[in-house]
Amino acid sequence: MTRFIFITGGVVSSLGKGLMAASLAALLQARGYKVRIRKFDPYLNVDPGTMSPYQHGEVYVTDDGAETDLDLGHYERFTGVPSRQSDNVTSGRIYQTIIAKERRGDYLGATVQVIPHVTDAIKAFARTDVDDLDFVLCEIGGTVGDIESLPFIEAMRQLRNDLSRGAFISVHVTLVPFIAAAGELKTKPTQHSVRELTSLGIQPDVLVCRCERPLPAGERAKIAAFCNVRPEAVIPALDAKSIYAVPLQYHGEGLDVEVLRAFGIEPGPSPDLRRWDDIMDRLTNPEGEVTIGVVGKYVGLPDAYKSLSEALVHGGISNRVKVNLRWLDAELFEQEGRDIAAELEPMHGILVPGGFGERGSEGKIRSVQFARERSVPFFGICLGMQMACIEGARNLAGIDKASTTEFGPTEEPVVGLITEWMTAGGLQKREEGGDLGGTMRLGAYDAKLAGNSHVSAIYGATDIQERHRHRYEVNVHYKDALEKGGLVFSGMSPDGELPEIVERPDHPWFVGVQFHPELKSKPFDPHPLFASFIEAAVKQSRLV
Ligand code: GLN
Repeated sequence: MTRFIFITGGVVSSLGKGLMAASLAALLQARGYKVRIRKFDPYLNVDPGTMSPYQHGEVYVTDDGAETDLDLGHYERFTGVPSRQSDNVTSGRIYQTIIAKERRGDYLGATVQVIPHVTDAIKAFARTDVDDLDFVLCEIGGTVGDIESLPFIEAMRQLRNDLSRGAFISVHVTLVPFIAAAGELKTKPTQHSVRELTSLGIQPDVLVCRCERPLPAGERAKIAAFCNVRPEAVIPALDAKSIYAVPLQYHGEGLDVEVLRAFGIEPGPSPDLRRWDDIMDRLTNPEGEVTIGVVGKYVGLPDAYKSLSEALVHGGISNRVKVNLRWLDAELFEQEGRDIAAELEPMHGILVPGGFGERGSEGKIRSVQFARERSVPFFGICLGMQMACIEGARNLAGIDKASTTEFGPTEEPVVGLITEWMTAGGLQKREEGGDLGGTMRLGAYDAKLAGNSHVSAIYGATDIQERHRHRYEVNVHYKDALEKGGLVFSGMSPDGELPEIVERPDHPWFVGVQFHPELKSKPFDPHPLFASFIEAAVKQSRLV
């Protein structure tokens, strides 16, 4: 039987519901269960692909080319289960599907309504492709009480009755704030939030209470009594020192046991958590440290680079070193008279991440030049690879006007719009001025690596598959000119049309990739490029 765990949040947002879901899934997995996690986002965008990182943080891309919520990144990093398009849905996507059906005449004669049409679509979504699973965890975005999340809660309520008995539980995550003036933890917001949820027909089975201080037994009992849950099912959740400590911490508080009990399952022996113990051992007992400068545009908002910063941490786990991240604003590197060298000299590695638009691009190009000239390990990802190619074109291949058509018309389109590319499903075509939503080259694509290249040694393979999210691409017509400038095209799409990786053999570690390797890195399985980049940074740290 496939069992459903619905996860809602109350009181305030940002309670770490996504991490809770990911940790619970990891704990169930460690007990031998097959799990999948899904995210329901109540907003009206069809997907987060067109939202600014300031609005939404990173857009996480799946193998099958979906642009999704960044929580799916946590799900994948904690469970290793690759996310799919069918793991994230928004109100926008649900309405889009229903309205398209209505226009086609599928509901001919009927009034189309939130109940049952929207709620049916939500339920159908929750139940897609779940037959081989033991547990499906469904996280509902937002906070209980929001107008836009009501259809999701209503769908949950109905689903509980549609499923066989014992196949559904509700886990509610709330806040128990500490009021300094009173010197007390306050349970009232939790009581109100649970009352709100029960008024919508959902009685939570397990309550996860985020708190800054340990929850005294008395308060736990009070929450249990007022919220109609057993005291053991009130799980305190204190802030953790690392997100990778969260599964162990929740296990210590009995979350997995209480969830199984809520389903009437006898928990059996303890889960195998050696994987998490090893990660925590490496994080808490590092043998050194390195400092990586990330030169980007959204540096005020680390959520914009969530997978990237995690992948760098994974590189540290792999090398048993602490990775200090310095977020450097590329735009500031464009100021007249700015001493970039002084700011970049302390870095043991420089990374230019993915991005969109011209703002800050000259600062990124200057950072590439610094890393190249000073032999500092350099990693360019997506836009970062494109900037590395423009830098090489301008400074070593004599193409002074090298640019990308993303920034406007240019005489030397070293990077240009990709108008055609092959996919497993056939040729894809794009036109200038077409729709922006969901139309990039998205998802997993194969690449072939040159056998004698640095990257094939790093991967230990010549055939790789990585996830993409871009509209522009290094123009293969400039390959010869750039190679004369020392930049080797060591990875290409299988048809040889699209440059996927560039590297500099005359440099200790200089790699640019058109894809996003950070999306596939896991703490227990660090991505080889990040492991190798941090290894190079460790060597660099011994030189300076
Ligand atoms: N803006 C660039 C493009 O569309 C790079 C995208 C990215 O870095 N993800 O090609």
